[in-house]
Amino acid sequence: MYDLIVIGGGPAGLTATVYALRKRLNVLLITRDMGGKTNFRLQVPDLEHHLVIDGDEIVSRFVNEIEYLDFARLLDRVTSLEPSEHGYAVTTAGGRRFTARAIIIASGSRPQRLTVPGEREFEMRGLCYSAVSYAPLFMDRSTVVIGDSGLALRAAAELARLGRMVTLVAPGRGQLDSPLGLRLAASANVTILENCQVLRVNGDQYARSLTVSYQGRELELSADAFFVELGLLPATDFAAGVLERDAQGRIAIDQRNRTSAAGIFAAGDVTDLYAEQVLIAIGEGARAALSAYEYLLEQPVPAPAVAATEWR
Ligand SMILES: Cc1cc2nc3c(=O)[nH]c(=O)nc-3n(C[C@H](O)[C@H](O)[C@H](O)COP(=O)(O)OP(=O)(O)OC[C@H]3O[C@@H](n4cnc5c(N)ncnc54)[C@H](O)[C@@H]3O)c2cc1C
Repeated sequence: MYDLIVIGGGPAGLTATVYALRKRLNVLLITRDMGGKTNFRLQVPDLEHHLVIDGDEIVSRFVNEIEYLDFARLLDRVTSLEPSEHGYAVTTAGGRRFTARAIIIASGSRPQRLTVPGEREFEMRGLCYSAVSYAPLFMDRSTVVIGDSGLALRAAAELARLGRMVTLVAPGRGQLDSPLGLRLAASANVTILENCQVLRVNGDQYARSLTVSYQGRELELSADAFFVELGLLPATDFAAGVLERDAQGRIAIDQRNRTSAAGIFAAGDVTDLYAEQVLIAIGEGARAALSAYEYLLEQPVPAPAVAATEWR
């Protein structure tokens, strides 16, 4: 039995794992990949990388450290999490089962895609999913934001602060009646196309335009970059029934990253915390590890420490 299993190797899970290793916990990181969404980087012509805050140095350092300690990580996908004697049992797609006294869920989220022709081709080459991360790059440039939720409106508002022109392609009415939606509608450099559907993404080396359907016609919208802000889908299916999630499937946590289930902690984009950013995920991962550590200090230690049937 492990002291701690961390699920997910993005910035939150990597940080939690390194903290747990430093505390000399018997920890296993189970993740589909190392780095999570930090493996995605927007490419646009004349990109000034120094303007993007991406936490790259610390994420790379933690990836290297954990890759070296191969006993502490397993590349696999967690399919279920359930209570077991003295803690929790985790099952993976590879058919393995592990038990731990405490769990940190850091399985993040993935952006909802447009699913139109050209999207995959131009993904991260002019077409991206995190306007809040890249807005400073688009001073005096034109951008398109797709979505009508609060996420999309915040993206459009941020891009409009510095940019020349923002076009909001709104599939429906969504949050357009909110105070931010009304403010955007009154902004001189924002155009809102309501009930507008994206048909395809066009480009050469980079995405250059969208073909959209608007008021019964096909329009071509050209811009310097295109941000799909339809929403984030948290990876929490494996934890359904074990702990509380909000309407969007995100895990509810308190100020110590505790979930509604004793001994299960969560950190990063998978939680209901504000702002999906690498530095926030790193901080949350650190706090979840410290909180789990304190929890473990209070628990009786079952024997034996590592069951013979478990992978090591
Ligand atoms: C395109 C894009 C660009 C971005 N650019 C920036 C930027 O420049 N700066 C910035 O601050 N933020 C940026 N962000 C946001 C930032 O990437 C996230 O906030 C951050 O990565 C969240 O970290 P996380 O560890 O919570 O989750 P994630 O990075 O999503 O990592 C989750 C991890 O869990 C693993 N996982 C998921 N399900 C399972 C499972 N069932 N079993 C095992 N493992 C699982 C995944 O494989 C992954 O390793 C960007 C986001 C996107 C989408």
